[in-house]
Amino acid sequence: MPINKILIEKGTEDAPLTRRILEALPHLPVAGVEPESALPPPESLAESKSTLFLTRFKGELIKPCPGTKDYICCGYRILHIGSNCPVDCSYCILQAYFNQPFIRLFVNTEEIFFKLKTFVDSHPGEIIRLGTGEFTDSLALDHWTGFSTLLIQELASYPNVLVELKTKTTVIQNLLPGAPSKNILIAWSLNPQEIVRKEERGAASLSERLEAAVICQEKGYRLGFHFDPLFFFQGWEEAYQQTVRLLFSKISAEKIAWISLGCFRFMPALKSIIQHRHPKAEYIYQEFIPALDNKMRYPQIKRVEIYQKLLGWLRESGKEIPVYLCMENPSVWKKVFGFIPGVEVPTLKEMLDQRVKELWGGKASLKNSELEVRSK
Ligand code: SF4
Repeated sequence: MPINKILIEKGTEDAPLTRRILEALPHLPVAGVEPESALPPPESLAESKSTLFLTRFKGELIKPCPGTKDYICCGYRILHIGSNCPVDCSYCILQAYFNQPFIRLFVNTEEIFFKLKTFVDSHPGEIIRLGTGEFTDSLALDHWTGFSTLLIQELASYPNVLVELKTKTTVIQNLLPGAPSKNILIAWSLNPQEIVRKEERGAASLSERLEAAVICQEKGYRLGFHFDPLFFFQGWEEAYQQTVRLLFSKISAEKIAWISLGCFRFMPALKSIIQHRHPKAEYIYQEFIPALDNKMRYPQIKRVEIYQKLLGWLRESGKEIPVYLCMENPSVWKKVFGFIPGVEVPTLKEMLDQRVKELWGGKASLKNSELEVRSK
């Protein structure tokens, strides 16, 4: 989606990030807003997605991932740098967040970094895994904001923090000057090109994402990949197998920190929004069951089949890359991997924290297959 307009909350006009964005987008109309409650509501989600709202961060900067009881969570934390994004994925949960319109960017960077430092100082010696891609795409606006450059500078003095920048774009230019930051993991969401074309409007194509990943790999960054959401559709097996093969034809397994798998799931309220905004989205008419977290999910037997096949194709690479399930229940883990994190083996958080230490030169973390043997 192109950006058509900038709204600026009064009091943030002189923030360095505001000035930088205005310099990068000098042709756009700009309007001041005061107070935020006077924000004119967007006429449509399309308008919401094409308007930047530069505002001050208020609230909780670092939050635990919204994992729910009964599902196994990886224990990462969300670094809240903004919400919404100009990409228009038909399945995006943010479409249902009517109370947070526009693409919000928090421009009070100094205050954000002060809060980050306070948080890090209060967790000495702990591996802190953060992600900025929960409420927005981590890099979609980075060519205008340059936020990743500021973040890398800020993190340089934190030996225990890893920030995962998750994206569906190729906006990596600010990550390339200088040495690769050991505090940064760059991650891409992957889906077969036919899903990208139909359901991820405005995102980079699959091959463009992988080309960007190749550049980051050559630069020396560690990478993450997320097959999430995984869709079940006619021809899904061939499509995902080809996607996995394409991944390994470009990316060396040793450079991959981890890969996650997560089947499509949604809050019931999202269904009518998808039907209305994306009438060609066929996946919403499939069979779903209400799960313990009130989300609609494919039946367990189907999810297990999808995960088992993906895992098998990933293992064809010949290397045992850490693979985990995003928000799945213990029974699915047992069927797919042969073990349940936290039951006779480390928790998923401990496994991923150990993987981070390994990436930073610590001892090797346990492989999925070793965990399976342990739990028998
Ligand atoms: S890239 Fe992420 S935040 Fe942006 S529309 Fe797609 S799912 Fe939503």
